[in-house]
Amino acid sequence: MRRTAFLDRDGTVNRDVDYCRSPEQLELLPGAADAISRLAAANFQCVIVTNQSGVARGFLTEDGLARIHAALHQQLGGVPIAYLHCPHHPEQVAGDPGYCRVCACRKPAPGLLHQACDLLAPFGVTLEGGVVIGDSARDLLMGQGLPVQKVLVRSGKPIEEQRQLLDAAGCHPDHECNDLAAAVDWLLA
Ligand SMILES: [Mg+2]
Ligand SMILES: [Zn+2]
Repeated sequence: MRRTAFLDRDGTVNRDVDYCRSPEQLELLPGAADAISRLAAANFQCVIVTNQSGVARGFLTEDGLARIHAALHQQLGGVPIAYLHCPHHPEQVAGDPGYCRVCACRKPAPGLLHQACDLLAPFGVTLEGGVVIGDSARDLLMGQGLPVQKVLVRSGKPIEEQRQLLDAAGCHPDHECNDLAAAVDWLLA
């Protein structure tokens, strides 16, 4: 069966700079592109799922984000089959009021996972047998109670805080490791 890897973006695939606003700020983490290629070679579909409240905050537009994802796609050798994002922020922050609302797609809500399965079912994307990989507790909480494995990587947010958040929510990672490359080593072992 074809499996799907639901990958966080910032702090997992590329270095987490506070609100990436342009393609020039993209910096792939070491081994990330190769790890994604290895996933694809092992018959995983790779989907990027990312919170981008910078849109709601007015730091970048949907068009600007699309340009960033086009550049990222090139740097990743064209491997991921989709880049799904939540542009919202739940509070009325300064920025674009049209995006300031509670939504179902901001992680830790599972909306992006469901979007991926709805949109990409023709490509075999399904939760069953899938894996969520991210540097933030939110990434793993998105998969809580769903039939996906959860891998926490230490390449982004301060790890101790993420562990505490997960613990408090009763969410137990299937694995924790340094980065996406190590996560893929573990998955494919
Ligand atoms: Mg992240
Ligand atoms: Zn959203």
